Amino acid sequence: MENCLFCKIARHEIPSTIVYEDEDIIAFNDINPVAPIHILIIPKKHMVSTNDITPDDVDLIGRMFTVIKTLAAEKGISETGYRVITNCGPDSGQEVAHLHFHLIGGRTLGRLVSSQP
Ligand code: 5GP
Ligand code: ZN
Repeated sequence: MENCLFCKIARHEIPSTIVYEDEDIIAFNDINPVAPIHILIIPKKHMVSTNDITPDDVDLIGRMFTVIKTLAAEKGISETGYRVITNCGPDSGQEVAHLHFHLIGGRTLGRLVSSQP
């Protein structure tokens, strides 16, 4: 998509620190990391969020998680642990309207969901 920030990163029109790339997937360091390891894994094709995933994307999404697992191992956080997050829509605070998974680790992370509703 012409004016999408992450499509531009995928096309290498905007610089980023790329840590993985293949024909369909690219992963790069988040510009504003919340932990020592904070990588964004995105499909190169434009999809807004998980709402856009169809059965045709099963292989792509599965491969994205294989990339996440491999990056976690490369960064040395497989055993210490990490979190994978995707935001979808306004209530989640999604800022960039192109599907992405955050891979976050390298420090102890706070509880994501409290016991309070
Ligand atoms: P969201 O809130 O949409 O789930 O996450 C968007 C993420 O993209 C944020 O963590 C933000 O720091 C990151 N981000 C925004 N603009 C850029 C950019 O130009 N380059 C990189 N590498 N990350 C970005
Ligand atoms: Zn896009």
